Amino acid sequence: MMPSSDTKQLADWDRRYLWHPFTQMQEWEQETPLIIERGRGAWLSDTQGRKYLDGVSSIWVNVHGHRHPTLDRAIRTQLGKVAHSTLLGLSSPPAIALARALVKLAPCGLTRVFYSDDGSTAVEVALKMALQYWRQRDPKAGSKRTFLHLQLSYHGDTAGAMSIGGIGLFRDRFAPLLVPTIAAEPPYCYRCPFQKTYPSCRMACLDPVESLLKRRHREIAGLVIEPLVQAASGMLTAPPGYLARIRALCTKYEVLLIADEVATGFGRTGRMFACQHERVTPDLMAVSKGLTGGYLPLGATLATEDIYRAFLGQYGEWKTFFHGHSYTGNPLACAVALANLEVFRTERTLARMQGKIRTLRRLLKPVARLAHVGDVRQRGFMVGIELVKNRATKEPYPLTERAGHWVAMEARRRGLLLRPLGNVVVLMPPLAVTMTELSRMAAIVRAAIRTITEPPAPGGRRRRVRP
Ligand SMILES: *Cc1c(COP(=O)(O)O)cnc(C)c1O
Repeated sequence: MMPSSDTKQLADWDRRYLWHPFTQMQEWEQETPLIIERGRGAWLSDTQGRKYLDGVSSIWVNVHGHRHPTLDRAIRTQLGKVAHSTLLGLSSPPAIALARALVKLAPCGLTRVFYSDDGSTAVEVALKMALQYWRQRDPKAGSKRTFLHLQLSYHGDTAGAMSIGGIGLFRDRFAPLLVPTIAAEPPYCYRCPFQKTYPSCRMACLDPVESLLKRRHREIAGLVIEPLVQAASGMLTAPPGYLARIRALCTKYEVLLIADEVATGFGRTGRMFACQHERVTPDLMAVSKGLTGGYLPLGATLATEDIYRAFLGQYGEWKTFFHGHSYTGNPLACAVALANLEVFRTERTLARMQGKIRTLRRLLKPVARLAHVGDVRQRGFMVGIELVKNRATKEPYPLTERAGHWVAMEARRRGLLLRPLGNVVVLMPPLAVTMTELSRMAAIVRAAIRTITEPPAPGGRRRRVRP
């Protein structure tokens, strides 16, 4: 193992050999990378032994904390048997047991589990299943070939998932790879596209969704949605009842409801799955991130029995779902995912989380009052704090000023790791975080926002972003 004293060497090699995701490498090459070597619970430590709170659960994946003994043991035990064997033509105990456990926990009606490698591929699988489903269910119809999604949505970085994405910066330059889709206004209440206010708006943002479905349902295979929270666009929280209305519209116009629970799944919103807040069963559901407790990459797409049955037939009818990956259903990943679900039960994670969700709400109140905080959105353990240049007019900071980034850097100096989304400061603690850690996170977030966005006291630190 590399001794920690080799930090400088590692930093040089990082800048020489690595290409980091979603990172301007020209800037990265000028900085000293923070190199994480260890973790325990909600804490990570770097090669020099400095400790940081993991404020975004290592990009939204960690659930029960780092180095959880049950999860660690599950991987070691499986490693004592076999690291990998394929699901193409063979099966494995962890893949079988996990599929059964997922079906038991999922919104009722989802009865089949198809594995893939990550969130993007889980979504990709859902899109392909939806297209093939309609072809096989009604071969004469054959016209349901596009998807309806929300503006500002994010469903991953592979081509199909990008096609139903609504964040211009992540998709427009890849236009030649994308398929045409249809986008509708999102429920972004703070900057309502219709300048209305909830609840007097009566969710007017659903009207364009309905009129699109009414006019074009014959060409729409599925409506894809991040239930309750549009995460990557800045934790946009939908008003209560929105998802249930979407479900009703999909049923009415015979369009599959595809729930992307990649970010919201596994307790993030305070229930196992976000759909369960509104008693919604989607036709297809994509999960990943929290599935393995944040240990290993694994994705899964859950389908209803109706969809599954449409793929049955004689061999030569070619109704097979022709899709799969080399590591589909990897036994190590399935074993740790199973242990993840077991810890939810033994530690009563969801029940014990409820008090922490309320505490977090209370801790965020002083943050919401800050001069340059326009909106604080929270759903369970998903929090977005939208920074604004002007609170009265909601005027945003120009993205090039990187307000969120500087707040994250200031938080890091104070011992909290964050990764913002533009002007939105994200807080997504592991579900196992303690009350003490939670208040420390909130205190650091508040202090960091003040340092960066508010004029300094005489002799104080220089501010980074001009109000
Ligand atoms: C992160 C995310 C994805 C993509 O998952 P990857 O594992 O990064 O491919 C898809 N959908 C949503 C809602 C996400 O938050």
